[in-house]
Amino acid sequence: MNEQLKQVWNKRPLIISGPCSAETEEQVLETARQLAALNRIDILRAGIWKPRTKPGQFEGMGSIALGWMQKAKAVTGIPLTVEVATAKHVEEALKHEIDVLWIGARTTVNPFSVQELADALQGTKVPVLVKNPINPDLDLWSGAIERLQKAGVEQIGMIHRGFSSYGNTGYRNAPMWHLPIEMKRRYPDNLLLCDPSHICGNRNLLQQVAQISIDLDFGGLMIESHIDPDHAWSDAKQQITPQRLNEMLDALIWRTGTCNEKEIAHALTHIREQINQVDDELITLLGERMKLADKIGMYKKENNVTILQTKRWNDILERAFEKGLQAGLSKEFIIRYFDAVHMESIHHQNNVMNK
Ligand code: PEP
Ligand code: MN
Repeated sequence: MNEQLKQVWNKRPLIISGPCSAETEEQVLETARQLAALNRIDILRAGIWKPRTKPGQFEGMGSIALGWMQKAKAVTGIPLTVEVATAKHVEEALKHEIDVLWIGARTTVNPFSVQELADALQGTKVPVLVKNPINPDLDLWSGAIERLQKAGVEQIGMIHRGFSSYGNTGYRNAPMWHLPIEMKRRYPDNLLLCDPSHICGNRNLLQQVAQISIDLDFGGLMIESHIDPDHAWSDAKQQITPQRLNEMLDALIWRTGTCNEKEIAHALTHIREQINQVDDELITLLGERMKLADKIGMYKKENNVTILQTKRWNDILERAFEKGLQAGLSKEFIIRYFDAVHMESIHHQNNVMNK
């Protein structure tokens, strides 16, 4: 990695932008010019080969567009990134001096493809960004990173682009923030970016999602931009103009993961101690609740009564919704929390009755 790229890779927040797809030479160059004028974009992106869910849609311009990207770099001086899905893509991209490669969500799901890419990357020094797999499977995401590590790829970053899920979540791909948070725990030293464009699927939510990622200490953003978003050949609804991107980046509140100021650090420590205290109490109370479950299990055993009493379970939930509302807790949380408590209680009663 040359010195310029090393600096870019280590910059926080790192901002990647550019069109979903490279469509024409003019579009690539004009987008790049407008982005460069903002003076805050670190890497230019564009899709060259587009993995489409259904055939017959625009599948990217292919290798010819790599030449346009090269020109964009020559004009702006900004490093480039493109998506690769096969060994041939890697070869073509490197021939055209693409600086950073990214692996798309539809590729991360497939260990054969990821291994093919890892083999093609062996011996190269190119940094690679790995998007999360389409489905919420963290081991697939980790697995891809491990395959690259084994192939000797030294700079590996992660891009959170949301997960397919059943039912309408309001997002194109549900963020399921706990999953990137877990990846950050597993790979604390690797760059983690958020891709609000593919999470949201439309322009309205971009800023809100980007802000959440900053608040969760992500290392930067990949956001799609286009000179004429409404007429983009792919992902038209979620792309924004470079101008709009600039306004959005201005409006975001940038926070850092570490606090230098002693006072803030002190206040945080104090609140964290209180949180630990409350957590300890909650665990003790939950233990006591399960002892009551054991007791009731004994009673049910002696009287041959079933563990599950649906009416009682409904009553518990109703009470909890009401109490929860007063305590500022959402109904969704109460359901998830009580589901977990209920399952543990059933587990305890099962032990009492059947062991
Ligand atoms: C893209 O970045 O344009 C893309 C295809 O993303 P994903 O792999 O996240 O769907
Ligand atoms: Mn896209």
